[in-house]
Amino acid sequence: MLLGLEDPPAVYVPSRTGKALLLHEGYTFYLKNLQSFGRKQWYCSSRDMAGCRADVITAPSKTGDGDILFLVRGRHIHRPPNYYFTPDGKYVRRKDIYHRYR
Ligand SMILES: [Zn+2]
Repeated sequence: MLLGLEDPPAVYVPSRTGKALLLHEGYTFYLKNLQSFGRKQWYCSSRDMAGCRADVITAPSKTGDGDILFLVRGRHIHRPPNYYFTPDGKYVRRKDIYHRYR
């Protein structure tokens, strides 16, 4: 749902390791750098595996409630990874589960 001209909120999900991932259009990003003004740089989770160069900068919302998507750069060179929520609320890449039980 669009909310007029407001900045799109950053959506975070807990990963298998407990660290937050940034979720954007089905892609996940991991925290790479803390920048000035509370901004954070996020790299695509497939950067190391697939060499994807997409990244996102988040910034604190002006309302003080969470973060917003400040800048979305690059184009993904792969399909969105296949993630799902585990019963305990973690957001897990399906491939990881296959590894676990193999
Ligand atoms: Zn990507």
